[in-house]
Amino acid sequence: MNNAINLTGLKIWDGHNTLEADTLQIQAGKITFIGPREAVTGPTQNCAGLTAIPGLIDAHVHLELNPDNQNPPLQTDPAVIPLMHQRAFQMAQAGITTARDLGGGAWYELNLRDQIARGEVIGPRLLCSGQPITSPQGHCHFWGGEAKTLAEALAVLQRQVGKGVDLIKIMATGGRLTHGSKPTDSQFSQDILDALVATAHSHKLPVAAHCHGTEGIHRAALAGVNTIEHCSWVGRQGWAGDFQEDVAKVILNNGIWVSPTVNRGWQRMLDNPTNGVLHRVRSAYQKMLSMGIPLVASTDAGIPGVYHADLPHALRVFSEIAQLSPAQVLQTATSNAALALGIAQTTGTLAIGRDADVLLLDGNPIDDLSAVTRPVQVYCRGRGVLTD
Ligand SMILES: [Zn+2]
Repeated sequence: MNNAINLTGLKIWDGHNTLEADTLQIQAGKITFIGPREAVTGPTQNCAGLTAIPGLIDAHVHLELNPDNQNPPLQTDPAVIPLMHQRAFQMAQAGITTARDLGGGAWYELNLRDQIARGEVIGPRLLCSGQPITSPQGHCHFWGGEAKTLAEALAVLQRQVGKGVDLIKIMATGGRLTHGSKPTDSQFSQDILDALVATAHSHKLPVAAHCHGTEGIHRAALAGVNTIEHCSWVGRQGWAGDFQEDVAKVILNNGIWVSPTVNRGWQRMLDNPTNGVLHRVRSAYQKMLSMGIPLVASTDAGIPGVYHADLPHALRVFSEIAQLSPAQVLQTATSNAALALGIAQTTGTLAIGRDADVLLLDGNPIDDLSAVTRPVQVYCRGRGVLTD
């Protein structure tokens, strides 16, 4: 029998609003009560001064990648496994209770996902794509997902399905991480993208598409992917220099979420406000937001200099670049992220019956977003991961 944890005296922000309730009960990994203190019996923990919010979701990470490496290794070494466990633990301690892993070479993250789900390892709930589908020598080809023809691309997809992935990742354009691949260049024709998305969806698997250049964004949007990663609008005018409203309308009309991977290091843009990139990126985000295209928080953790547990710090940078209020940016990492990832019935909000993914913060992040970097306790499916 699992004893209930009764947290009282709280402020509670449920992923949408601040509630009247001051008490939250966790039992057997679930949220079992939210309401007034008087309604619960048994021992309570006084949480005066603390705010409970849903656990954070990072929609784009790579557990396999070491942020201290400037170049990813060409082969995945099993020696990375204990490091992946460490990274997952650090993420949980920072309040990240769900993460979507968008690529690795050896499916180690799927194994870790299952160990976490069984409670053998502490870490965020993981949704994993396995090997991304890419073109020959294309972006992240070293992970083994190269395909030239439709038949080859479908074979890579089937290999991921066989490994038990949660979604399919497609590199629709080149990227900066891979020598010889260019962010502006599209990697697949419309026909191949259409067929890959249809096949993934026939397996009930969503699709995340890596897209920097506008042409690749357009093709992925037409193909009906579920999330567009980066969405950098790169064209001849450089980063965020090629926003096209017609393309954005396709994103909107196809119900696609944009995951812009704003990491903590983008502070450098804010430190150089006269640099045109900040202006262009901000303007692209504001145009998408004003059209009604939803954004989700993501960091691309694992790429050089981007640490796995840094989402709480990245949220402030994201809020300043996209000019989102604290509540809006927290929604991109909680309730909206859960909708984008198709897990809103499980997590992303504080509600009775949801998994107990709960962050207790020192202060109120709706007034002062920095509180999100000060977790006092983190519950991952009801399990407290910070010792008092
Ligand atoms: Zn990535």
